[in-house]
Amino acid sequence: MKTIGLIGGMSWESTAHYYRILNQETAARLGGLHSAPVIVHSLDFAPIAAMQSEGRWDEAGRQLAEIAAGLERAGAEVIGLATNTMHKVAEPILEAIDVPFVHIAEPTAEALLADGFGRVGLLGTRFTMEEPFYCDRLRQRGLEPLVPEVDHTNLNGIIFEELCRGIVREESRRAYVTAIERLAARGAEAVILGCTEIGMLIDDSVSPLPVYDTTELHAKALVEAALA
Ligand code: GLU
Repeated sequence: MKTIGLIGGMSWESTAHYYRILNQETAARLGGLHSAPVIVHSLDFAPIAAMQSEGRWDEAGRQLAEIAAGLERAGAEVIGLATNTMHKVAEPILEAIDVPFVHIAEPTAEALLADGFGRVGLLGTRFTMEEPFYCDRLRQRGLEPLVPEVDHTNLNGIIFEELCRGIVREESRRAYVTAIERLAARGAEAVILGCTEIGMLIDDSVSPLPVYDTTELHAKALVEAALA
């Protein structure tokens, strides 16, 4: 099995889920005492979140590219970036490495297409929902993404003020369920949890639409790539 390099810390709450899923999936696939060979570079999220809100994406891209190159030097043979939002700067990361990079939207699109879905809701940070980098990628794969028309601020706020700090509130779960109901009313057939923390609030037991959790799909795809 190849060594997985994970760029994490955005937030560390979701990186902890990645770490668990990488190991659980490896054990499920290989059995016995097998666990995932993984190098995690977990960074301080506060400066990255400041770069996001101040629009300093080039600086963030340079920093993540350096980290990716460092993971490769340390022995990573396949690399993943454990946040949807920061895939806005996937390009400089790709340019900095020679090993495969598993883009988070790819296994997500594949799972939806395999299940026959076309028109899908997308929930995530305001960057992921409002800027073209993520929806365009889904459209290239033949999907028709729908994002909420209103209340972005609230959904976005719940991610940064609560989930990234490990706070899970019933009221926030209801806000997300309401957003999914509205997407369903507009014709969405399934919903992408397009932020690696939303799985802390929403799963199939509470969602009115089938849930595609990017954290789970991405982590499993990294194991798949490491076993290929
Ligand atoms: N983990 C989140 C995501 O998947 C949000 C944190 C960030 O802005 O990177 O988009």
